[in-house]
Amino acid sequence: MVTRQRITRMAAIFVLFSAAEIMDIRAAGIVTDRLTPRQMKMWREIENVVLATDSSGIPVHPMLYSLWRRLETGGLTIRIELLEPKTASFYSGGHFAVEDISSGGASRTGVIRLYPKVIDGALTTEVARRSDGFLPFEKLSDRTLRYAEVLGHEMTHALQILSSEDQYRLTVELEQEAKQLSDTIRSCKEALLDESIRGRLKKLEFMRETIEKPARDAEVAVWRELAATQRAAGTKAAAVASLFSREKKEAQVEK
Ligand SMILES: [Zn+2]
Repeated sequence: MVTRQRITRMAAIFVLFSAAEIMDIRAAGIVTDRLTPRQMKMWREIENVVLATDSSGIPVHPMLYSLWRRLETGGLTIRIELLEPKTASFYSGGHFAVEDISSGGASRTGVIRLYPKVIDGALTTEVARRSDGFLPFEKLSDRTLRYAEVLGHEMTHALQILSSEDQYRLTVELEQEAKQLSDTIRSCKEALLDESIRGRLKKLEFMRETIEKPARDAEVAVWRELAATQRAAGTKAAAVASLFSREKKEAQVEK
């Protein structure tokens, strides 16, 4: 027989579980559980740049700040990884990937990977200028500002999959198709001569452009904000870190 006491106890357990679930939902956002203590120090510096506000509480880098806030409150779980490049010729400073495909989008989990060494070594000469005229990291000598620029680009990708089902499907499809095609071409170089494979590559390029354009545009806007900070800080090493250290409540950047 179920006593009143037992019902009360069961109700208490239920409330506890519900609270745990709510906490779990709140844990969604930007998650750093894959970072080592050393990487965490680097990440905190990036975070300080993103979340910096002036003496009136206004974000110093509004675009970067708003991307971050939207990610934190959008119900998506985004894990952060800071990695070494896979090969010597690896040239991408960042990457975003959907991690949880199995749930069919019910629980959206993604990962933003930053490659600090690649970003440190990125050229800012004319050869690196993109076809749209933008030169990544131009005039950004501070490493943390460079990482923040790439983070802005990758956060835009993460937000894309939040914005609509179509974008989410497109991102997942792109990842799967890119992997399949690269496996096919790696196992047989002649596959490149095949008309249907070339058609798929063309379609892949189109899909990639659809996804990349908004991220590249956001990166340009973020770069403008960061370049203003670099100008204010000058070129002295660690000048930016001193501007945005957590102990300082007031940012000293004047734009
Ligand atoms: Zn991109």
